[in-house]
Amino acid sequence: METSTYRIMHLDILFCFLVLAVLSSSCVDQVKFGPLCGGNPDNMKRGCDTKYGCGHYGASRGSKKHMGLDIVCSDGAYLYAPFDVRIIGRAKPYGNNNAIDDGITLMGEGLCFKLFYVMPDQLSGTRFKYEKIGRLLPMQKVYPGITSHVHVQMCDKSDPTKYF
Ligand code: ZN
Repeated sequence: METSTYRIMHLDILFCFLVLAVLSSSCVDQVKFGPLCGGNPDNMKRGCDTKYGCGHYGASRGSKKHMGLDIVCSDGAYLYAPFDVRIIGRAKPYGNNNAIDDGITLMGEGLCFKLFYVMPDQLSGTRFKYEKIGRLLPMQKVYPGITSHVHVQMCDKSDPTKYF
């Protein structure tokens, strides 16, 4: 895995160099999320569940649309800072106080984003990349059979997919 990561990085650098050479334009590295959830080091995205829909941005939720991106995460798994972050505060997805109605707002790398279905360790301060920030709440209690996941939503509700 380390070798392939290195190869991908190498290709990125090569690509940037080519773009620079051809277009003489700037080639800014895209911010990427580091591992969010213990047990899912590659930030594998949630696909589709027969009962509950799909995990991609813009997926149908009845008359509404899914305004975030779901990353696979087991109930009770630890969540980690995807890069150095400042903890802004609590972010409740529903406001109905059910078993998964909790989350956290974070800022880092110039991005403001929310993680839903998370019991936060703390609601202020900073965390370095890879440091624990909380645990996934018991999603199976609320949505039996769903692919348990953490929901990533940008504060401006834009599409977070390019960061993964
Ligand atoms: Zn979601």
